Amino acid sequence: MSASNISHALQGRERIAPERPAWAASPEPPEREALPLVTAQALQRTAAAPTADRLGQRSQDWHGEGWPEHLVPLREHAARLRRETLDDLGGYVAQLSNQVSAHGGVVHHAADTSEALAAIRGVIAERQARLVVKSKSMVTEEIGLNHALEADGVQVVETDLGEWIVQLGDERPSHLVAPAAHLSREDVAQRFSALAGEPMSTDADELAAFARQRLRQDYQDADIGITGVNFAVAETGTLVTVTNEGNARMATSQPPVHIAVMTPEKVIARMRDLGTLLPLLSHSGAHQQVTTYQTMVTGPRRDGEDDGPEELHLVIVDNGRSDIAETKYRDILACIRCGACQTACPVFRTLGGGHAYGSVYAGPVGAVLSPLLGEHPQDAELPFLSSLCGSCADVCPVQIPLPDMLVDLRADYTRTQESATARAGWKAWSALWSHPLGYRLSIVVTRLGGLLPRWLPAALPGAPRRWATGRKLPDLRQSGRFRKALRRMRLHGAERSHR
Ligand code: SF4
Repeated sequence: MSASNISHALQGRERIAPERPAWAASPEPPEREALPLVTAQALQRTAAAPTADRLGQRSQDWHGEGWPEHLVPLREHAARLRRETLDDLGGYVAQLSNQVSAHGGVVHHAADTSEALAAIRGVIAERQARLVVKSKSMVTEEIGLNHALEADGVQVVETDLGEWIVQLGDERPSHLVAPAAHLSREDVAQRFSALAGEPMSTDADELAAFARQRLRQDYQDADIGITGVNFAVAETGTLVTVTNEGNARMATSQPPVHIAVMTPEKVIARMRDLGTLLPLLSHSGAHQQVTTYQTMVTGPRRDGEDDGPEELHLVIVDNGRSDIAETKYRDILACIRCGACQTACPVFRTLGGGHAYGSVYAGPVGAVLSPLLGEHPQDAELPFLSSLCGSCADVCPVQIPLPDMLVDLRADYTRTQESATARAGWKAWSALWSHPLGYRLSIVVTRLGGLLPRWLPAALPGAPRRWATGRKLPDLRQSGRFRKALRRMRLHGAERSHR
């Protein structure tokens, strides 16, 4: 490995002690803790409340007044455009592949993670690459690309500022467009100080300048640039990435090889559709009219051009999307990864970001997509991590009916995964509460149960302990307060009507 193939940006990384729970780690730990336990721990993190406040304020500022009038027709048009592509996903992907090939790119179709990793490793091996600069990409998180390449001895440097910050702390991104949303400026300064080996101020401009100075050299030294794709235009074979930092532009133009990784649903039919989709993505993701950089790559560098890669590879990873496209959940593939539903979701905010979901995709979009992708059996429980308040659907720029899907996924879970004991319990409860006498009897039993210590279920072995993990029992002796309050209110109302 030559000196030029050693990352400048990551020098000193070993001095950073990751201060995060195991469940926020990158990569995800193979053995996951139970979801209720993780969410209970997430609520206790000191960072959770400030993160919730920050995201809540952001959501209020951006969506408090509803959709601006001029964007309403754009939103409806975008929803139609995305469904149009989903109607013939295979056809548009084939058209895209033909166009990319016609412009000198190489297209790799990968059915799953292992095929995608094999395709990317093949290109890296051929070029004997040792240093890779990467622009933000969720699908590369999904296939665990960084860790696979690091295991091969390749250094991978995230160049999106937020992604670089979480990479330094060995964490996963906690939000689709704001990967370090769970961290404060003080957290970032602490991380950068350890990296630099000297104290740094918490001034945002100074921190950004430090990151810029650290990352810049790596663009020039890198053998390969890897990016995600925000939109891929079937009509022209153009790969579109949007950033506010220009890092995707650097990663696609400086290294001699560019590997773009996308999932099939990123395809759009026509170039002109960008006129609708780009402003909506900018508005919903960052409340901007337009992001600072839109980078459009159509094939590798041609004769007479000054920059751009010598080779362009496009890896299209299906990982179950074609199957989802055939189900009633097809609309989730219309997602343009703006992250607005995450910012708007009170559950996501209260948990201090997406780490506690345990999946690559978190928040409302993740609670629908991750169980369908089947990344981990525990993801089937994610649809229950929602208050069904509907905020996610209100802010979604492509009108995905997220709450309806969450309800349907809950029903699927109950039908297919709930144990026979749980089902029998719910049936008994339903029968009991269908009669006033049964209901009153249950109140008496509950009050008697309240005489037992509240820690008892967690101390019992087996099912009671599993059930109690991460749950806090209310004081059951207080049960019935609602009915008393109701009676008081009715009495009060009756007195007033007699006056
Ligand atoms: S589901 Fe909608 S709001 Fe959520 S990330 Fe996707 S496009 Fe954005």
